[in-house]
Amino acid sequence: MKNFYEVIVVGAGPVGLWLACELKIAGIDVAVIERRMVRSTQSRALTIHGRSLEVFQLRGIADRFLCRGTPIPSGHYAALDTRLDFSSFGSRFPYTLFIPQVVTEALLEERALELSVTILRGITVTGIRDNGSQVIVSTDDSAFSCSYVVGADGARSIVRQQAVITYDGVAASNSLMLADVILGSPPAKSAISVTNQYGSVMIAPLGDGHHHRIVLVDPQRVHIPKTEPVTLKEITEGTARVVGENYHPRDPIWLSRFSDETRLAETYRQGRILLAGDAAHIHAPMGGQGMNVGLQDAMNLGWKLAAVVKGDAPDALLDSYNTERRPVGQALYTNTLAQAGLVTRFDPATLALRETLNDLLKIPAVNRRLAGELSGFDATIGHEAKAVSDSEGWQTGRRATDITLINNENQSISLYSLLEDGHWLHLSLCSGASVPGPQWLQKSRIRFLAAVPSDLTVLQGVRALLVRPDGYIAAIDREQERSGNIDLPRQ
Ligand SMILES: Cc1cc2nc3c(=O)[nH]c(=O)nc-3n(C[C@H](O)[C@H](O)[C@H](O)COP(=O)(O)OP(=O)(O)OC[C@H]3O[C@@H](n4cnc5c(N)ncnc54)[C@H](O)[C@@H]3O)c2cc1C
Repeated sequence: MKNFYEVIVVGAGPVGLWLACELKIAGIDVAVIERRMVRSTQSRALTIHGRSLEVFQLRGIADRFLCRGTPIPSGHYAALDTRLDFSSFGSRFPYTLFIPQVVTEALLEERALELSVTILRGITVTGIRDNGSQVIVSTDDSAFSCSYVVGADGARSIVRQQAVITYDGVAASNSLMLADVILGSPPAKSAISVTNQYGSVMIAPLGDGHHHRIVLVDPQRVHIPKTEPVTLKEITEGTARVVGENYHPRDPIWLSRFSDETRLAETYRQGRILLAGDAAHIHAPMGGQGMNVGLQDAMNLGWKLAAVVKGDAPDALLDSYNTERRPVGQALYTNTLAQAGLVTRFDPATLALRETLNDLLKIPAVNRRLAGELSGFDATIGHEAKAVSDSEGWQTGRRATDITLINNENQSISLYSLLEDGHWLHLSLCSGASVPGPQWLQKSRIRFLAAVPSDLTVLQGVRALLVRPDGYIAAIDREQERSGNIDLPRQ
């Protein structure tokens, strides 16, 4: 077996698989090392948010997910009744997609295999050593070397531990229960969410036509450690207490207890070692975010790591992975901790706070603020973008939306389709207009196009635009004002 790869990704969960795909399309010799012989069958993540669908669309594969999932027109914050509205972000995907993680991982592995990514299964990584010029990855019975290693190896990441990266946060204090079951007497509405003094219950169809997912917080049982198996009796009785009737859950395919442990890695990069996904951030699964944020970590890291490995970009480019993505992890830490507090306490004060927040979420600006954070639509890169209140979002540091363009031959093209091969996109909207990228960026990595939006109200005043491979606006040239590059290192 070959034992040197340019990049080794530890962990073939959703994040490791997506990162490997991103590295491969950029021409990197990458291997994924996974301890499991076969993929996990646990449904776990059900929610794919709109920004992750955009990420898939940026590589031309969103349809594969759309045809296997169920769109849900709105989202939730802490199971509050006032739903999150995703309609104002200019996305082709203003909803969440319900699709079990087992299906998501199968689709990601399919993509990885199409791209000929090497996936080495049944190998457990036991040690990581960065010697300054290479990383030695030790396994059960052999060793690999690589230029960089990425820990996408989940919450108990061996990569993070070996790099001695601090994983501070809040220890588990409450547990929630989950059951993927058949409902003998299902509720009239296919999805319900009830919180009262008896606890909290969320029920939604699993999407396979048979099972429902029940998430139950039972105040009498929140202190049970997550290692203790869940029984169907706990689910039946606890759910009935909250909703006032028995839905007769049976034939569970997955029963689990999960905790509100919340942690964030002190850094996402240490030398030649990088972290992504649950290896970098864990939290109670509130609002369906962990996998989504991890996929977006991978999207941010992939093209940067490829450019550094190829010697195109300075090593310092990798520091921008930490400066751009860790603040998103910090926000995730805060919002999931807040939500966990709101769904695991049932005293009169917390129920009153829920009522207050429920009212506040009816204010469009408040709703948009949380909807933008949970969906990932509002994630930005660099400092400049944070000050921007422009809802259109055509600003340096914000995501480009998938507008339709008309080129010089009068053909319609979607902006995202121009990024499918992982190149940068330079768009000239006025004859001869251009905007500079980072000095290290080679012209061969940029696709140049002269085109205008089909909707002339979009991009008004913009003369040229540079979009990064991950779909973020790196630079923009407007009439009157020049908005420079984000803080990407220059050679
Ligand atoms: C009940 C529940 C519901 C959830 N719902 C959502 C949701 O709706 N939306 C959402 O976005 N997120 C959700 N999440 C979170 C989501 O499941 C995780 O964030 C996601 O799995 C993280 O992906 P990952 O690739 O980073 O890590 P993982 O999925 O944990 O994958 C890590 C991989 O690394 C492998 N590995 C670990 N150690 C080693 C080693 N030493 N050597 C080799 N391989 C190793 C593991 O076997 C595993 O395959 C939910 C989680 C739970 C528990």
